[in-house]
Amino acid sequence: MRIGIDLGGTKTEIIALGEQGEELFRHRQATPRDYWQTIELIASLVDLTEKETGQRGTVGMGIPGSISPYTGVVKNANSTWLNGKPFDKDLSQRLNREVRLANDANCLAVSEAVDGAAAGAQTVFAVIIGTGCGSGVALNGHAHIGGNGTAGEWGHNPLPWMDEDELRYRTEVPCYCGKQGCIETFISGTGFATDYQRLSGNALRGHEIMRLVDEQDAVAELAISRYELRLAKSLAHVVNILDPDVIVLGGGMSNVERLYQTVPVLLRNWVFGGECETPIRKALHGDSSGVRGAAWLWPQGE
Ligand SMILES: [Zn+2]
Repeated sequence: MRIGIDLGGTKTEIIALGEQGEELFRHRQATPRDYWQTIELIASLVDLTEKETGQRGTVGMGIPGSISPYTGVVKNANSTWLNGKPFDKDLSQRLNREVRLANDANCLAVSEAVDGAAAGAQTVFAVIIGTGCGSGVALNGHAHIGGNGTAGEWGHNPLPWMDEDELRYRTEVPCYCGKQGCIETFISGTGFATDYQRLSGNALRGHEIMRLVDEQDAVAELAISRYELRLAKSLAHVVNILDPDVIVLGGGMSNVERLYQTVPVLLRNWVFGGECETPIRKALHGDSSGVRGAAWLWPQGE
């Protein structure tokens, strides 16, 4: 049995998967905003899962951050009480077994590569486009972490081929990482809403803007076409470097169905040489991809 845990800022979810990926058990609980309480919560969730299923499982965990390969402690977690802590080691000790830990976007990539929208693909690039923008890489179904623990942090590369407007916007909306012009500030759901507000003067949420697009509102249409162009330019960088077999989108913006028609066509204008048939697909497991991918950090046949 494989146990996967997705540690979110507000909720922690646990899942148990059988040998073929079938769901045996699932449970959610509020995440405490304290390090040792978080460890105790996870221990009690694993205990509950093993009691309910009558089996012992491997444990994989997705977190909104990563472990520094140099210091062995968590970095870049927006659940800030994890930062600077040897979370995987403390958990392994508490649970009396090895715990594998990966960034939540890497978990999305693994989940979709194993039995999701990119099932069986060798190289998968997955993006979570929500409030922010995280991304991860799966190679042959394994999370690719990278020597610095930074693989996939493409959201903090600058938006490529900026036009005059975009050069100006980059100074208006600095990124929380300390740089300007990061891809995240343009293609996150927040970036989309910000751009619509620039054009219209109105503060609306992503799904409200998309409703206006359906009603053929010209300003909302302009905002989504600018968004599609920026996403295509940004993904062209990924194709030029990694050339993944499949690109998977998760998070709130992945529900915008027209992206799967428009962005692959636009992508060809920016990929070197102009040839690009890379499929862009919506995450099959939706919000469950994080917790399923965490379980699959212990792959089949290993
Ligand atoms: Zn940034």
